[in-house]
Amino acid sequence: MEQRLLRCAAGADPGRCISRPARTFAPGGQEMQPAGTFDRNGEPMSGNMSNAMRVQAILEHEQKDVTLEGAKDARMRMLVGPEDGANVFHMRHFEVAPGGHTPHHQHDYEHEIIVLKGKGVASSEQGDRPFRAGDVLWIPPNEKHQLRNESTEPLEVVCLIPAPHACAD
Ligand SMILES: [Zn+2]
Repeated sequence: MEQRLLRCAAGADPGRCISRPARTFAPGGQEMQPAGTFDRNGEPMSGNMSNAMRVQAILEHEQKDVTLEGAKDARMRMLVGPEDGANVFHMRHFEVAPGGHTPHHQHDYEHEIIVLKGKGVASSEQGDRPFRAGDVLWIPPNEKHQLRNESTEPLEVVCLIPAPHACAD
């Protein structure tokens, strides 16, 4: 009998939960089989699903190095972006290795960030602002900023930006 995992956080609305076949991941976090959209029975759904609700694990999204000048040991997953047809917000996941950082930059749009794992320091125009898992950061438009991981553990955050900007932090 095929092994299945119930993809549902404790206490979540059961309507948001789907079951699907167990998945395997490479050491780098990449899934060993193509990501897809599955129905509540775990069966792959076919056709153009771009306008349909999607439930996917963070790890199902491809992770790429942040190549913007000034970034160091930072990697990004586009969780919800242009390829999904999202035209108001884009949601990105960032992983910053110990000693790494995002670019020290500014732009005319905001960041809304929630810290999932680890801890770090946000450079701001008011000085350094330490943060940790569970914290929420609001970076207003035009404020120069940078997220640094000065700890010995990976830092993971989710960052929302207004579409269609491509800022990699
Ligand atoms: Zn930024």
